[in-house]
Amino acid sequence: MSSFKYSIFFIVLFCGSQTNNVNSSSQKSENPLGIHSQDGWKNSLPIKYTISIEMTDTQHQYLKNAMQSWEKAVAKKLFEFEGTDPHKGIDFSDLYEPLKMGLNGHFFDMTWAKSTGKPNSVLATTVWENDPNMTQAILHSSIRYNQEYYIFGDATKDQSQDKKTIVDMQSLCTHELGHFLGLSHVPSTSDSSSIMNPTLKIGEGNTNRFMSSGDVDRVRSIYGVGDSTQSQEVIK
Ligand SMILES: [Zn+2]
Repeated sequence: MSSFKYSIFFIVLFCGSQTNNVNSSSQKSENPLGIHSQDGWKNSLPIKYTISIEMTDTQHQYLKNAMQSWEKAVAKKLFEFEGTDPHKGIDFSDLYEPLKMGLNGHFFDMTWAKSTGKPNSVLATTVWENDPNMTQAILHSSIRYNQEYYIFGDATKDQSQDKKTIVDMQSLCTHELGHFLGLSHVPSTSDSSSIMNPTLKIGEGNTNRFMSSGDVDRVRSIYGVGDSTQSQEVIK
């Protein structure tokens, strides 16, 4: 039993998302606010993704809930589950190795700082690689989760344990999938209810699972919108 209490609301940096593409820095200034890859994956939908063998069915469901929020926003199928991947975060030599292996995966890291080079306070990180022939299109992207310091579950039901703080996985995944799809951070001064604000309150009871109307507009500017939409459901 731990005597550690988590009554304080932590505000932690969501992620250290970044591209592995040298050309994209020159493109960056051309992108509107909140978008890092204007062409996204729109030439290769739905995006086939894998999950680590370490991810439980329950955790996969939280991830799928987050995917459905983005799919509702554009009224299109964006994601298709391809299966489990035998790799763990610890198997990769650096942050970008999943991209070099051509993986669009979700991996848990038990040696966070060593494997990713990121501070302990970072909950997760999304990395992506742009197509060198079309630098506004995404070729591969993977998400890595800091399992060394956090527990990924349902913050309305699950608890922090030992020295690991509970993080609401659906909230976190909705944000990280925004990066995965081509969105970048939006400062709270520009859109205070954006799911792409760079921080998240974590700990028991803290969730932020909904996107703003600005988020819906930004993702639609990449993917357009299908025939019908229930986007109101995903807007807070
Ligand atoms: Zn982020």
